[in-house]
Amino acid sequence: MITTHTNPDGDAIGSSLAMYGYLRKKGHIVSVMIPDPDPAFLHWMPFHSSILIFHDQREACLAAIGDAEVIFCLDYNGLGRLSNAEQPVRNTRAIKVLIDHHRDPNPDFDYMLSVIETSSTSELVYDFIAGCGDSGLIDPEIAACIYAGIITDTGSFSYSCNYEKTYLITADLYRKGIDGEHIHRLVYDTYSEGRLRLLGYSISEKLVVLQELHTAYIYLSKEDLDRFGYQVGDTEDIVNYGLSVEGINLAALFSERDGVVRVSLRSKGNFSVNDIARKFFNGGGHANAAGANSYVSLEETVRIFVEMLPGYKEKLSSVY
Ligand code: 5GP
Ligand code: MN
Repeated sequence: MITTHTNPDGDAIGSSLAMYGYLRKKGHIVSVMIPDPDPAFLHWMPFHSSILIFHDQREACLAAIGDAEVIFCLDYNGLGRLSNAEQPVRNTRAIKVLIDHHRDPNPDFDYMLSVIETSSTSELVYDFIAGCGDSGLIDPEIAACIYAGIITDTGSFSYSCNYEKTYLITADLYRKGIDGEHIHRLVYDTYSEGRLRLLGYSISEKLVVLQELHTAYIYLSKEDLDRFGYQVGDTEDIVNYGLSVEGINLAALFSERDGVVRVSLRSKGNFSVNDIARKFFNGGGHANAAGANSYVSLEETVRIFVEMLPGYKEKLSSVY
C-alpha cells in the first residue's frame, strides 16, 4: 500500500502514482490511499483512477490497510499527517517505509529514505527506483508522475531546486519520453473561471502588506470562498504572490474551511516558516514552505500571526 498526506498536493500524488506504476511493474499487488480528495488539476495523472480516498471509501481503505504487508509513506514525516486514516495505519503490523523530504521525521517508520536537500519526494522516488537498479522500468507514464511532482513542489523550478541532480533527473525524464509542455498545461492551465477570479480578488482586495515587518498576508473567509464557487485546490499557490512583492520575506494565507482555518506560510532565504508553523500553529513543513491547521476563528488566527511578527522583526529585516 502507498499512502500520502492529507490535502494532497502535486508531489504527494505524483510520487505516490509513480511508485504505484513501478511496484505494479515489479509484479506486486498495490493500492494507493489518500486521506481526503485531491484537487482536480491532478486528476489527469496516469493511474489516478486506482486511488482510494479514506474520507469517501472507508471500508475499502480499511480492507486494503488490513491486507498490506508493506506500507509506503510518501511526502509526509509523521503518521499524524494521515488525518482520519492515522489510527488504522498506526495499528497494522505492516512494515512502514518512509520516503520523504520534510525535516525531523517522527519515529513512526521501520525504514526511512529521508532527504531534506532535494526538490521533492517525487525526485526521491526516482532515486529509489534507480537505486533498485530499475531505472529502465521508468516509462513515460511513471516519468510524467515524477515530473508533475517536481514542478509542483518547486514552482516550476523556481525554489527548492538549487541542486544539479534535480536537472539531471529531469533530463532523464525527457529522455524517457515525457511532454513537459503538455504536463505544464494540464497542471497550470486548467483553472475554473471562479478560481482565477478568486486569485484576482485575493490580491486586489484581501492582501495586507506590512512593509516595515517585511510581511504580506491574505485572509479568505468562508463567504469569500463560497462567492467564487470554491473547489478543493483553488487556494493553492495564492500564498506565493505575497512573496513576489519587493522587500517581502514572509507571506501567509489564511483560509477558512468547515471548522478549521488552513494556514499556509512561505518565506525567502534563511527565514524559517517551519519554526513559526510549529510554534504558533502546531504545524510544520519545510524551511521556506510550511502549513498548519488552526482551530480558532479566522480573526483569532490572523491576530496570533500579526502579534508574533514584531518578535521576528530583526530576523525579517536581515534575510539573506
Ligand atoms: P501548503 O502551504 O502548501 O499547504 O503546505 C506547505 C508545506 O507544509 C507542505 O510541504 C506540507 O507538507 C507542509 N504542511 C502543510 N500543512 C501542514 C500541517 O498541518 N502539518 C505539518 N506538519 N506540515 C504541513
Ligand atoms: Mn513534497
